[in-house]
Amino acid sequence: MIAYIEPYFLDNDADAASVTGQSFDGVSESLHIQGEILCGGAAADIAGKDFGGMNCVKPLAVVRPVGPEDIAGAVRAALRSDKLTVAARGNGHSINGQAMAEGGLVLDMRSTAENHFEVGFLPSGAFVDVSGGALWENVLKRCVSEYGLAPRSWTDYLGLTVGGTLSNAGVGGQAFRYGPQTSNVTELDVVTGNGDVVTCSEVENSELFFSVLGGLGQFGIITRARVLLQPAPDMVRWIRIVYTEFDEFTRDAEWLVSQKDESSFDYVEGFVFVNGDDPVNGWPTVPLHPDHDFDPTQLPQSSGSVLYCLELALHYRDSDSNSTVDKRVERLIGRLRFVEGLRFEVDLPYVDFLLRVKRAEEIAKVNGTWETPHPWLNLFVSKRDIGEFDRTVFKELAKNGVGGPMLVYPLLRSRWDDRASVVLPEGEIFYIVALLRFVPTCAKTSSFEKMVAQNQEIVQWCVRKGIDFKLYLPHYKSREEWIRHFGNRWSRFVDRKTMYDPMAILSPGQKIFNRAP
Ligand code: FAD
Repeated sequence: MIAYIEPYFLDNDADAASVTGQSFDGVSESLHIQGEILCGGAAADIAGKDFGGMNCVKPLAVVRPVGPEDIAGAVRAALRSDKLTVAARGNGHSINGQAMAEGGLVLDMRSTAENHFEVGFLPSGAFVDVSGGALWENVLKRCVSEYGLAPRSWTDYLGLTVGGTLSNAGVGGQAFRYGPQTSNVTELDVVTGNGDVVTCSEVENSELFFSVLGGLGQFGIITRARVLLQPAPDMVRWIRIVYTEFDEFTRDAEWLVSQKDESSFDYVEGFVFVNGDDPVNGWPTVPLHPDHDFDPTQLPQSSGSVLYCLELALHYRDSDSNSTVDKRVERLIGRLRFVEGLRFEVDLPYVDFLLRVKRAEEIAKVNGTWETPHPWLNLFVSKRDIGEFDRTVFKELAKNGVGGPMLVYPLLRSRWDDRASVVLPEGEIFYIVALLRFVPTCAKTSSFEKMVAQNQEIVQWCVRKGIDFKLYLPHYKSREEWIRHFGNRWSRFVDRKTMYDPMAILSPGQKIFNRAP
């Protein structure tokens, strides 16, 4: 392959159009890569952009691997070259080009989605072996429909791959109890940057196992993950309650996430919204059903520019009577200090609840905002500093909304494994904050630029003020920023890189290390 594609690589200006759409079957045969290889325009169409829509690069080629041997073949080919890099691409839902490889090979992991699906049972519980390139959405559907089982920890949106979220963390409303998705896998098959195919777990090749979890794709490409399962409930009661005061919102949210397993809701999230009738940022974003009305007269006169919503869910079985479910809900909710009259709830099947963001995706696809840029900002902020963050960011900088959801909810550090590569703020309780900005199709370029500038302003303010925070799904341009991000974990991250990807072949789009010649 190298002999064939090297000319394009060495001369990045080579006429990519001349190979547009070409499939290099002959080359793949000579390499013993069974999968398809696409170059030029066809490669750029697949891997030149991501969900963020803010970066555009030309990969040298996209490989659609058949399995780990193809992936190892691509990595070994890169090792034999002097510049080539390799990026695994899950579903390309990164924001800042993290799954891209300018002039490099992109492995379209979706081609491996069906390679594994096997449910197993151990005395410690059930698990499923799934492909790194599988979409969580499909893992959910198969586990529930074929076995009545389901993974324990989810992201809000499931059109993401197993390998893509495990490379970051995978955070959602179940993480306060089970930890992120990285805390819910027990074994991985990985192709390292040395081209080795390795099985790893907490007890076997454990350093590689923990390196890869939250490792931003820097140490290996996940081809199989063993994911813990639990019995899937039939139904979910989905509830939203409104607060006017941030400290009451956080007090209740922290109380809920700190309860023992069976004494709380099964899902706890929260968000900030604008105190006004704006359809994208305000009151209309809270009700859960078209028949629900947000009645602003219920709000006290003293309400500020933004309001807060706790989002909760309780699992139950078809066989549970309505009154049993009502009682369980009232026992918990009775202790919370939300605004009377601003409580919304619906009952829906468990799978529909987990797929709830798919409806938002469909709407955004129709109105065009799925395709416009998404300058999203995700952070973890310590409990110590979340009040100050609220005062400056939510109540001032973002008081008119960000064109999409502004999530904020607490997580517990003890549910995360410190041995994994992800870094967190100090303290047991910290908050995830997500400013999920959508750019309207009619917006001027300047409004998009303002969003990007505001993200920078927020991060710079955090740094200046000494806010204890970490970017989630981080992206930085300079090494100094990466060193600050990892803090006292930087040397561990570098040691892991030296061990598993010494030539810095993998995931160049993260811009942490430069390819070694
Ligand atoms: P990609 O963007 O394709 O890849 C991300 C990184 O992982 C890249 O560095 C890539 O090289 C690497 N990678 C991909 N596959 C592999 C693999 N098999 N092995 C090793 N490395 C690999 N995140 C949350 O935690 N919670 C949420 O609720 C949530 N909701 C989201 C909703 C939407 C609409 C979107 C767009 C994103 C959301 N995210 C959420 C963020 C998401 O988890 C990350 O962007 C994730 O990386 C996307 O997965 P992907 O499969 O598209 O990965």
